[in-house]
Formats: sequence, C-alpha cells, structure tokens
Amino acid sequence: MVGDDLKTELPTGETVRFAHLDYAASAPCAEAAAQAVAELLPRYGSVHRGTGVRSQTSTVAYEVARDVVAEFVGARPGDQVIFTRNTTDALNLLARALPPSTTTILFEGEHHANLLPWPNQLRLPAPKSADEAINAVENALGGITGPAVVTVTGAGNVTGEVWPIREISDIAHAHDVRVIVDGAQLAPHLPANLDHLGADFLAFSGHKLYAPFGGGVLAGRADWLDAAEPYLYGGGASATVGDRPGDLTWATGPARHEGGTPNLLGAVAIAAVCAALLVADRDALHEHEQRLLTRLRRGLPEGAREVSLFGPDHPRVGIVSLALPGHDPAQVAHRLGREYGIGVRAGQFCAHPLVRRLVNAEKSDTCDAPGAGLLRASWGLGSTEDDVDRFTKALAEILRS
Ligand code: PLP
Repeated sequence: MVGDDLKTELPTGETVRFAHLDYAASAPCAEAAAQAVAELLPRYGSVHRGTGVRSQTSTVAYEVARDVVAEFVGARPGDQVIFTRNTTDALNLLARALPPSTTTILFEGEHHANLLPWPNQLRLPAPKSADEAINAVENALGGITGPAVVTVTGAGNVTGEVWPIREISDIAHAHDVRVIVDGAQLAPHLPANLDHLGADFLAFSGHKLYAPFGGGVLAGRADWLDAAEPYLYGGGASATVGDRPGDLTWATGPARHEGGTPNLLGAVAIAAVCAALLVADRDALHEHEQRLLTRLRRGLPEGAREVSLFGPDHPRVGIVSLALPGHDPAQVAHRLGREYGIGVRAGQFCAHPLVRRLVNAEKSDTCDAPGAGLLRASWGLGSTEDDVDRFTKALAEILRS
C-alpha cells in the first residue's frame, strides 16, 4: 500500500509508524492504483471528445476500465457499469431510476447512503440473526402488492457482518422483485459478484477499495437505467439537442448517467485494483483479515465490548465496533491518534439508527454523552499483526487510566 511507512510524532517526541485502522472509512491507496494513474497522467486528456492522441488514449483507458470493472462485478450480458463519485452517488442515482411507485424494502440498520435516498420505504427493524433478516424480507414481500425492490448492505459498516445476500435475492426473485446491494464494505474484502450474489445492482466506492481518486461504481440491470431520467443533464448524457427547450434525445447506456466530463483517473484507479484483485488469492487475503480479527478479539481489554447483530460467530469482514461503557469513544479515539499514532473512528458511522440500537442494547452502564456511539477499528490489505497489537495494548492503557 502507498504510505505503509507513514510516520507520526507522539507528544513524547518519539516517532512511530502510523497504524491505520480506519479502512472502513477510507483505505490506503494500492500501488496498482497509484501506478495506473501515474502511467496515464502524461497522456491524460478528455474522454469521448477529442481526436488527438491524448483524448484517444484517455477514451480507450476509460472504456477498458469499464470492461475490467464489469469482469470484477461479474456483469451479465445487458448489465451496465456506470462510473459515479462513490457509493452514495451510485445509490442516489439508482433511487431516481426506480420505476414509479416502487416500494423499497430495507432494514433500519443501513448506512445513511443506503437509507436516505429511497422513496416509498418499508423499513424493517434491524434483525437479530441472518435467518431473521431472510424471514423479515420474505414476510415484507408477502404483504406488498405493487412494484417493489429490496436494498441491503453486503457487509455492515458498523459490525462488519456479512449479510445473507444470496438467500435474500432468491426470495426476492421468487416474488419478481429485484435486489440492490450496497457493496461499499463488501467489495474490498470479499468477491462482490452480481451473479454469485444473485443481485440485480451493486454499488461501491473506489476510496474504500484502495483506489482513492474520487470514483465509484454502479453496476446492474440496464432496463431501469435506460428508462430513467438522466442523473445529470448536460453534455455526454444527451444524444441530440434541438433549438427549442426540451427538443432533445438522451443517450442510452452508461453515458446517460455520466453527464459531463467523467473522472477518468478515478475509473482507471478502480479498474487497476479490480484487475489486481481478480488474479489475487482472495481466500488468502480473507484468511489474513480473519487472523487479525481473532488476534484483536483475544487482545481486547476488559471494558471493551464488541457489538454485533448476528452474534460473534457470524462471518464478518475486517471491521469491529466496540462499546466502551463509562468512556467517551471520541476521546478514546482522539488519544489513540495523538498519544499512540493509531487511526480509528468513533461515533455513529453514518448509521445512526443502528448505532443507537446497539448502544441502547448496552445501556445499563454505557457512557451516555450525546451521540457518544462506538469505537471502530477496521483493516484490510496491508494491515499487520503489529497494527492490531498496538491498538489493543493502547486501548487497555487508555481504559485503565
Ligand atoms: N455504504 C456503506 C456500507 C458504507 O460503509 C459507506 C461509507 O462508509 C457508504 C455506503 C457510503 O460510501 P461513500 O461515502 O464512499 O459514498
């Protein structure tokens, strides 16, 4: 990873390697992404517009990037890959592309990016097990008469738990209902393949997938996307424009929702990481993350309690959130950063309803500072045992003091 050896100075004057345990917010940049961007920069130009070598090279690079991402997500014939700014952007785009009067079935525990954009919501309470999630979707679908869609996270950004997407998709499809997967925390850790997940749409962010150049992805069924109003009106999205207002035809295909000059470097960076992950031993990467999880759990000091919806044995990615009864997580995070050179995150992680629920479940002696929330450590490619050990040791010292 670029910047693996970043150093930071502690108040004691000591210099230490910065331990980045905030991958769930933004992961470090992969060498492959940095290299792809560096290689393109000297030839960089406008996409889809010019005739010179810069523009032609850039257009090819952009469309090759789309093809690589299509392979990464296991796009089926007819699926589209649209480059967006991030997951939030991708899900907002899709929310505006839903057929009229569609009811969106979702759980209250979603990240705000997958909670707020949807119209006509049927919000289900956060489930206590994967089976409960599946049953809740089935019951909800049974009570719906009009068009509906289910949107669900692939892996939760608070608990790291992996959701039963395949089962939910199978049930939804049996009711002729499509499934959208928020893959922001899934894609960096586990294969996020539309076909294997049985999902109809998938969204994810470059900056969480080791490609922090401002890009994101929405992939999935073309029909809703081609029928929808363009996400942004302007050049690229329009095919022909007449003299009078409204006298125009819109493009179909990805261009319809990529109005304006696209983020070429973002797309190329994402594709570089996708290409690397396509040939990587993902089982080995997953096992490494799981070893770090086990190590972190073993090292957790008394007074730090891991929160979960589905219980400790449920599969999860490299994310752990902790309730710290009697302590303010924000202050603990601040001290970890300043005194120990460790970056984590504290608060409610843009999932306020879920964190409220999890904190309330710990209520008896949890610090009740307004919005105190939880402390989250998250890791991925390039994370080390030393990162985890430093975190648990520092946390123990802080909780003792
Ligand atoms: N969905 C999940 C599960 C997330 O964790 C996040 C970000 O943390 C998002 C969506 C939003 O991602 P972005 O901020 O890149 O749009």
